[in-house]
Amino acid sequence: MVELKLVDKVERIEAPVYKSVGGPIFKIAITTACRMDCLYCPFRAGSSCARIFWQPEKLVRVFMTLYRHGVVKGIFLTSGYYSDSDRIVEQMLEVVEKLRKIGYKGYVHVRLMPGTSKHLIREALRLCDRVGINVEAPSKHHFSEIAPSKGDWRHDIIDRLVYAASIAGKPDKVDTQFVVGASGESDREILETSYWLIGRGIGRLHYSPYTPIPGTPLARKRPPTQYDRVYRLYQAWSLMRYYGYSLDRIKLALREDGMLVKTRDLKRVIAERLGIGREYRVDPLEAKLEELLLVPGIGPQTAHRIVEMREKGRLTLDVLRRILGGRWRKAVRYLDLTRLPGKRLL
Ligand code: SF4
Repeated sequence: MVELKLVDKVERIEAPVYKSVGGPIFKIAITTACRMDCLYCPFRAGSSCARIFWQPEKLVRVFMTLYRHGVVKGIFLTSGYYSDSDRIVEQMLEVVEKLRKIGYKGYVHVRLMPGTSKHLIREALRLCDRVGINVEAPSKHHFSEIAPSKGDWRHDIIDRLVYAASIAGKPDKVDTQFVVGASGESDREILETSYWLIGRGIGRLHYSPYTPIPGTPLARKRPPTQYDRVYRLYQAWSLMRYYGYSLDRIKLALREDGMLVKTRDLKRVIAERLGIGREYRVDPLEAKLEELLLVPGIGPQTAHRIVEMREKGRLTLDVLRRILGGRWRKAVRYLDLTRLPGKRLL
């Protein structure tokens, strides 16, 4: 006798999975319905795109199936702006609560709505690993040009982000995103806002290149943003966030038109504009940590190691060569090694 298990219903579900640094992520909008009219978005009110609504139970079931089979390592929840902000955030948090209740301890990232109430921001920070609200553009003026109905840039977005960062406990827990090139803004404007946000504890900034989507009002007006531009902005963000570069220092790499110079190595451009390697070299025996961090090839970890070995009196040419490893060739032309070669310091 053979026992057959019959399946009476087969459901085909399209599950969007995105690559991320920590592994593949299930990135999903709980609905694509929206009453806003952002000029770059295919889901804007009045567009003919399919409007999908996920029931929380079904979303949990689909995600957990993917998670248990190792297809994804976390979930990113967002939503169209179909109702008032708090109602939408409550629905997203309902999904997160269900996940946590069944024992899911993995990564959850939730994109809040502009104007989300503070008690829901607190709840989101309690339940999730990361929360954010998209700034979209670097100023109120640019924002209202591309997202005219999506709320007040300063009050509904910036103030909410600053509040979230003030209680998040760690900078990586709060993030935001710019749609680079959508509002005709300059790199200078993006960098100024980025620097301000980093200073207020919003540690994760994402720069998404604007891509015209046929049928959207902006598609006729703005060309696509090249990935190189975004790459340079990420370099600048990393220098401000992890290397402690001031805004003035980053601005050394700006052209007159307010855009970053076209380079694959922003740090090298800044070092050379400061005259390092040409007018003077950095002495690893004396340089402060922030001066070491100006040297191409020396990152925060390496700079700390150099200072540590120096303080122990053990910084020699060989040791420095070992610390720098493969970056020795890149860094050496910016370093003053005259007092170092072969000597062991006491
Ligand atoms: S709020 Fe704007 S960006 Fe978000 S789904 Fe609606 S139209 Fe698109």
